[in-house]
Amino acid sequence: MLTGRSASTPSDEGARPDVAVVGAGPIGLAVAWRCAARGLRVVVHDPASGSGASAVAAGMLSPVAEAYFGERQLTGLLLASAARWPAFAAELTEATGAELGYRTEGTLMVGLTGDDLAEARRLWAYQQGLGLPVTPLRPTELRDREPALAPRVRGGALAPTDHQVDPRLLVPALRTAARRAGAVLVPQPVRHLGEVDARVTVVAAGCGAAVLTGLPVRPVKGQILRLRAPGGVAPGFRHVIRGYADGESVYLVPRSDGEVVLGATVEERSDTTVTAGAVLRLLRAGVDLLPELAEYDLVEAVAGLRPGTPDNAPILGPLPGRPDVLAATGHHRHGIVLTPVTADLIANLVTTGVPDPLLAPFGPERFGGAGSAGVDGPGRTTEEDRWS
Ligand SMILES: Cc1cc2nc3c(=O)[nH]c(=O)nc-3n(C[C@H](O)[C@H](O)[C@H](O)COP(=O)(O)OP(=O)(O)OC[C@H]3O[C@@H](n4cnc5c(N)ncnc54)[C@H](O)[C@@H]3O)c2cc1C
Repeated sequence: MLTGRSASTPSDEGARPDVAVVGAGPIGLAVAWRCAARGLRVVVHDPASGSGASAVAAGMLSPVAEAYFGERQLTGLLLASAARWPAFAAELTEATGAELGYRTEGTLMVGLTGDDLAEARRLWAYQQGLGLPVTPLRPTELRDREPALAPRVRGGALAPTDHQVDPRLLVPALRTAARRAGAVLVPQPVRHLGEVDARVTVVAAGCGAAVLTGLPVRPVKGQILRLRAPGGVAPGFRHVIRGYADGESVYLVPRSDGEVVLGATVEERSDTTVTAGAVLRLLRAGVDLLPELAEYDLVEAVAGLRPGTPDNAPILGPLPGRPDVLAATGHHRHGIVLTPVTADLIANLVTTGVPDPLLAPFGPERFGGAGSAGVDGPGRTTEEDRWS
């Protein structure tokens, strides 16, 4: 059973860790930080911390703009996590001294053509129906807020409570915080869970979780670009901008240092090739919405693999029949926004053994027997080959 220890009574059971975390992306590191801060002895295994999806992620914290049809339970979890972000960011900065690029200007959602606007309005109506703060804006109001928007943009809406963070600042900060709290990072892969010796194992390996647990986590490719305003100045817009441009869905995330993240494709593939066609589509849609982007430097074109699940929601909780193995994976498009809530819920489960009601819809058991097989034996050869 997952019996807990209080923060004031750290383990004295020799060298055996209380918690082994597999994967040192944002999820694994935040879980490790929270567990170590509770006085648990924590070891984190990862040969390449921060090299997963977080290395390319845009860092939007957008529970409102990303509240999609058919995902009400996920939206609830996104909102719960976004509400924790301000305190989480402040605590992390206090623990490490690191800036995270946390910004709170909100998201402007826009439609370029009449058809684009009609599509966007259906989604805004759905979001407003959930009681979410979405304020439609007339074109003049839109351009008052962001004069750099193309004159062609037909209309938009503001989601003022959506924020952003820079994942390339977040992950090193979490690594530092986890280490300072006492977690030990071991730069080795875990090939199968049988080789991990700890009271509780948390599988936070992103796409790598599938081969370790049998859970239905699949890679979903995303190509994404980074541009930079010329002359080292800040971009000419302040909000995160999400839009439809001639049917193409695109987002633009401005950073204070001049970077603009322009993304992203969503492809059912597992390679990380960057294709000319995707770059063309992203740039065309981005420039259609914000013409000044054409003058920016194109500094990076890259692809990453989101850990997707059959219902787009994360998998959080004990594997069927294995209360000592907790999944914290499958965060798909939302792993950055879901970092605080995942870390808190998993750390509480580890220390108390009592699942928070928020976890109920997201357990591994919702996929039937998946996740119960093969956790002790050698992993499948494909993943072993990858790490060899
Ligand atoms: C293009 C793109 C844009 C995105 N934009 C956003 C966004 O704006 N907002 C948002 O919230 N999310 C976004 N995401 C999603 C987000 O990046 C992921 O959901 C998040 O990174 C998941 O975190 P993770 O720690 O579970 O996995 P990852 O970040 O993938 O990290 C997994 C870690 O596990 C390690 N690992 C794997 N297998 C093993 C093993 N066998 N042993 C040891 N270690 C192992 C890897 O080396 C890696 O360090 C985006 C993703 C992509 C691809």
